[in-house]
Amino acid sequence: MTWVDTHCHLQLDGRPPAELLRRAPEVAWVVAPGVDAESSKASLSLAGEHPGRVLATAGLHPHDASAWPEQRLAIEEMAPHVSAIGETGLDFYRELSTRTEQEASFRDQIGLAIGLGKPIIVHCRDAFADVHRVIEETGAGAQAVLHCWTGGTRWTKRFLDLGVMFSFAGPVAFETGETIRLGAELVPPERALVETDTPYLAPPPHRGEPNEPAWVAHVGEALARVWGIGPDEVAKTTSTNASRVFAA
Ligand SMILES: [Zn+2]
Repeated sequence: MTWVDTHCHLQLDGRPPAELLRRAPEVAWVVAPGVDAESSKASLSLAGEHPGRVLATAGLHPHDASAWPEQRLAIEEMAPHVSAIGETGLDFYRELSTRTEQEASFRDQIGLAIGLGKPIIVHCRDAFADVHRVIEETGAGAQAVLHCWTGGTRWTKRFLDLGVMFSFAGPVAFETGETIRLGAELVPPERALVETDTPYLAPPPHRGEPNEPAWVAHVGEALARVWGIGPDEVAKTTSTNASRVFAA
């Protein structure tokens, strides 16, 4: 049984990426999202060092969206050489950049992804309505990957209609994750991906530890319980989906 970890910030971890990959023999490959120009460059280097095992992305996280005017050119230059654009999106929970700055950066990165025909990795925290509106208005639904999806039934239904992919992370396995599991129940396995969001959000039984790609299996097992199918089936379907989405 092999998995694909579609959101794994190996380059932000601090531990040697090669070591984390060695500890994850059941993970066929990972996507290492950039969160700014520097970490996108690091993602490209890692992909070069681990061909076929690490896929690179280029993007600017909503936390740093205020830096988009200065970072834009560097990210645009890397964009043709990566597997996806992002992570971008909206974060109204921490709101470290203004909502206006976040939406402008998000829209520009969507435009970049559409122009290049690449997937767009979307962070959405306390911003369901606005992320939905922007994806609908830009027509990016078929290219969008909603990373660390935490929506309940209402938002999951609305986003399903946009044609997006839902990437599930540790919270679907948390004791407190019942709302997320009710949402996940509505997602057909063909529309789902799994991720760790390493080094954050470690799933049980590792909560509180720095996360790592090997633990994507715990996320997949949680989804298997939600859907009432075997973990092997979840691994197979989500890995096929990942290959389709990231053209890997
Ligand atoms: Zn991330």
